[in-house]
Amino acid sequence: MGVHPPPPAVVPALALRRLVLIALLVAAAVSPLAGQALLLDSAPPVGRGVSRELAEWRVRTVRDVAYDLSLDVTSFDSAVGRVTVRFRHVGAGEAILDFRGRRLIQAVANGRPLPAGAPDGAHIRVPAEFLAPGDNTLEFGFVADIAPSGASIIRIHDSADGGDYLYTLLVPADANQLFPCFDQPDLKARVRLALTAPARWTVIANGPAVSADTAADRATTRFAETRPISTYLIAFAAGPWRRATSTVRGRTINAYVRRSRAAEADLDSVLALNHRALAWMERYFARPFPFAKFDIVLAPAFPFGGMEHPGAVFYNEDRFIFRERPTLPRRLGRFSTILHEVAHQWFGDLVTMRWFDDLWLKEGFATFMAAEALEEIDPAAGAWKTFYLANKPAAYAVDRTLGTRPLWQELANLDQAKSNYGAIVYNKAPGVLKQLEYLVGRPAFRSGVRRFLTQYAYGNATWQDLLRSISAAAGRPLAPFGRDFMLRPGMAVVEQELTIRDGRIERLALRQRPAQALSGPSPWTERTEVLLSYPDRPPARIPVELRSRLTEIAAARGRSAPEFVFANAGDYGYFLLLLDGASVRALEGGALAGVDDAFLRAMVWGALWDQVRESRMRPARFVRLVVRDLPGEPDEQIVPVVLGRLGRTVAAYLSAAERTTLLPGVERMLWDRAGDRLSPYGVRKAYLDAFVGLAATPGGIVRLDSLWSADSAAGEPLRDPTRWDIVTRLLELGAPQADARYATQQAADTTPDGRRRAFVAGAARRSAATKQTYFTRYFADAALNEDWAAGSLGAFNAIEHEELTVPYLGPALDSLPFIQANRRIFFLEGWLGAFLGGQTSDSARQTVRRYLEAHPDLPPDLRRKVLQHADELERTVRIREDEQPSDLRP
Ligand SMILES: [Zn+2]
Repeated sequence: MGVHPPPPAVVPALALRRLVLIALLVAAAVSPLAGQALLLDSAPPVGRGVSRELAEWRVRTVRDVAYDLSLDVTSFDSAVGRVTVRFRHVGAGEAILDFRGRRLIQAVANGRPLPAGAPDGAHIRVPAEFLAPGDNTLEFGFVADIAPSGASIIRIHDSADGGDYLYTLLVPADANQLFPCFDQPDLKARVRLALTAPARWTVIANGPAVSADTAADRATTRFAETRPISTYLIAFAAGPWRRATSTVRGRTINAYVRRSRAAEADLDSVLALNHRALAWMERYFARPFPFAKFDIVLAPAFPFGGMEHPGAVFYNEDRFIFRERPTLPRRLGRFSTILHEVAHQWFGDLVTMRWFDDLWLKEGFATFMAAEALEEIDPAAGAWKTFYLANKPAAYAVDRTLGTRPLWQELANLDQAKSNYGAIVYNKAPGVLKQLEYLVGRPAFRSGVRRFLTQYAYGNATWQDLLRSISAAAGRPLAPFGRDFMLRPGMAVVEQELTIRDGRIERLALRQRPAQALSGPSPWTERTEVLLSYPDRPPARIPVELRSRLTEIAAARGRSAPEFVFANAGDYGYFLLLLDGASVRALEGGALAGVDDAFLRAMVWGALWDQVRESRMRPARFVRLVVRDLPGEPDEQIVPVVLGRLGRTVAAYLSAAERTTLLPGVERMLWDRAGDRLSPYGVRKAYLDAFVGLAATPGGIVRLDSLWSADSAAGEPLRDPTRWDIVTRLLELGAPQADARYATQQAADTTPDGRRRAFVAGAARRSAATKQTYFTRYFADAALNEDWAAGSLGAFNAIEHEELTVPYLGPALDSLPFIQANRRIFFLEGWLGAFLGGQTSDSARQTVRRYLEAHPDLPPDLRRKVLQHADELERTVRIREDEQPSDLRP
């Protein structure tokens, strides 16, 4: 193992640096030639990671980059490589590359070896005297790590088939952990890869393979040079993969899966869905697929749902292989992931954000385009209902908190880019795009998108570029929209005000306010559709533009009194809707069950849930409503979402006395519905899962245990994933037979998934010793797979165990900086969600408040993440403390 000199300390004078730059720019404006030379020559201060200033300086001084990369991955724990970096140099200064790999063996610039001090563990500095104006060639020999986690090349050993499988994951800024490069999204490069691997392995990369030389037991595969792509999108996979191929209308897609899971994988369906996604996107964008070929890999233990590498998309194997009959939401979830990653080939890969501050641009678009595509490809799926259920509640849950951020998220250094991931870019951004499309109309939106892709093809762009393209297509200025939705944090809460007199509407108004003071007081401008529902005729829909704090809806005045009002029909508005009291009473009184439109019902269920979370409806009332009305709900997507809210209400919001009163009825309802032969499988399975998650009465535990040994449930053979859920719940409850069931189940399911579930279930044991062991392992066990640890956090923090877990709340918060530095992108969110979500007491709330007070120096991104997750704990305590059983507060 090579030894790196320590990286130099970060130079803190960023503000000063900016002043100098401004001075230089002013000088350049006065005297262009002199100013430019000065500006281009001097590198900014260079510390850890890739600072925005380094990136901006490099874009001015480096052009036309190409990497000729050779890697040998035949060793167990390291890859030996060579890279030739060609680029055009503008100006007469130095060049700085990024490299955090294990060791640099050789460094040559234009044929001359670089000085020994050139690499510093983070960067490689090529002094000006080694560079020529115009074309330059740098050559590096290096060693990079291959490891189960924490390396740019991930190795998964499969104990079932005996194979080792390798794949890369370089997002957001880990390409330089693999090889020396200019690691920033707006220095796109043509990449030519040659990969040496064991001869019996299969290798996949961004470009098509063009030749292979086999010598003894190893083979070197050369891949065609790519179109210009960003470094975070470079990828390869290598291992004894099984391949399936399908050709549709002249396009061939290869799908790869590890041997041990090939039989379960149903690659035919996955291939067909990818073909449909590609064909649809080509039509919508009016551009052919922008890269040379398209292959997919089902990657084991993949930490994301998928990754959109151009020409080589990686999908999460666990989410794509179903171990039991999938419900409609699971099937739609898989197809939505495919549509999302395929949309990225245009939005993200062909046109890429200039910097990770515009991460929302590619993520928001990919999710929005997935819904547009699903609506046309599978009209029966109810794409916009699916979109609402998957995105809006999740977006509002974060955007209404004190920890929220704008869509455009300022980012000083790529080493902090992980913090920009979360509900704002994944869930709010597509919601905002839906509002934008409604504002300008579908044709203008689509032609604006096409204009944007044409103008910036194989290049980079910002949110301003996108709005300019759509604004030009729509003939409508979008600067106010950019201000409200790109730059401003937070969201609006819109409240309905309704007065009825003599059977007619006397007044209907919408009053908006910011959900949090940090948004500033001014109103958002939005277009929405107000729906007036009648029991005996079709609803009336009134388009309304919100511009001020109070919008009186004149068009509603004098109409006959509706059964209820819903001011965000079609879900075009991006705001939290609070219904008026009369509408709530009507819906609760039976009107909800009479709504024919499933999309509207999904949103009405959501609005009633918001009544609970805003402390306007007692949780017991919500439970009674669900027990009465949900059994009549036929929609396979709505049922599991409402049951999830029921679960949270019963476990966290009800008082102990209320739970004792209500739980037997809840269990009975869930059990009966799970066994109802007339319901579709997805509905029955949702009730079954909810029963397993909630059962706690003595009778419920007996049923739960009998279920474990049953042959079938919800009309299907009972499979291991559900059996594991039952065992986990028995352990959570401390049921006497739980340990015996665990041992039997562990012996019966020895698959990779079974071993993972055994670890997860173990965290649910109701014992202080278990909690201690797991918490220690989260940090001390280097061999513990991150995916396993993440999966066990919910079981560790079961609400029934809050007295056992509350002592870990402080240590969990104290470990945030460690987790941020050492775990992958989504781990920190899961950690906070589990540890804070598992608490309901005032003392836990005080622990979190004290932690924030005691750490004024906590990095702002971490503080915001804590505030985002503290919101639910604050609400939970407030709802539980609410002594007044008053039904509706005005
Ligand atoms: Zn994405």
